[in-house]
Amino acid sequence: MVFSKRIIGHHGNYPRFDVIIIISTHKKVNTEKMKCFSIFFTIALFANSTSILAQQNNGQVQTNRRGQQGEAQTQQNGGQIQQLPRQQVAPESSEWHYPVPPKVKPGVGTKPPDDAIILFDGKDLSKWKARDNSAAVWNVKDGELVIEPGKGAILTKEYFGDCQLHIEFKSPAPERHMGQNRGNSGIMIQSRYEIQVLDGDNNPTYVNGMVGSVYKQQAPTVNAYTKNGEWQVYDIYWKAPRFGTNGELEAPAMVTVVLNGILVQNNYVLKGNTPYIGFPKYDAHGRMPLSLQDHGTKVSFRNIWIRNL
Ligand code: MG
Repeated sequence: MVFSKRIIGHHGNYPRFDVIIIISTHKKVNTEKMKCFSIFFTIALFANSTSILAQQNNGQVQTNRRGQQGEAQTQQNGGQIQQLPRQQVAPESSEWHYPVPPKVKPGVGTKPPDDAIILFDGKDLSKWKARDNSAAVWNVKDGELVIEPGKGAILTKEYFGDCQLHIEFKSPAPERHMGQNRGNSGIMIQSRYEIQVLDGDNNPTYVNGMVGSVYKQQAPTVNAYTKNGEWQVYDIYWKAPRFGTNGELEAPAMVTVVLNGILVQNNYVLKGNTPYIGFPKYDAHGRMPLSLQDHGTKVSFRNIWIRNL
């Protein structure tokens, strides 16, 4: 005689299972009956194990459904976490240990970190040159680098690609100048992409040409300039454009600009160079010098440093 007893799991996550009990009802069990019981018992075990497996799978499905329902319930209840599905992977599988970023000693305040290239520390123009490769002739006075109007732009001797640039500038006295003629210079990244330098103290102009703009492409999010005569601090994070072997643009340049600690350009994707007349376009290039623009006014600079990225 065969008894089958179904026992139900307590919490639903455990499989249900059957207990099969075989009791001989004869004192003498002949061989044929034993064979019959053996076959029946094997079939019963197989059916039972299949049932357990199906119920386990069903339990998993039910668990997942409960998890989904729990998340839905969580959202309905304002974000309080009640129960999340069990992690299916080890936490270590999404962790890595190499390469280890190098240790860099940060500067204090606006001082350069110890891996920065110092482009101007108040002493000389040894890291700079004129466009025709002659010596740069801007003035160095009292620790400041001052534009000598009419002498043209200056360029770094070193070439740069992706970089982090720190530079401070001070606008000259306004005098009678207004708009683009008041304290105009420019930080020409890779010699062709201008982050505008301009007096932003009560000096209206076209907004995509004001201080903090990507010149003629993107106005700053806010005017973070303080006052004429005060030092302004730029921190610029540059991702250079990528070009293919045939000169085609593969990835445009992208820039983030912080002026006086305030984000004014947030990962802006450039449309190309920044001409005064005409529209942006890309021409293939590699690493290029950083350049500072001469726009005819005596803008001062100090504390210029750059990090290759
Ligand atoms: Mg300019």
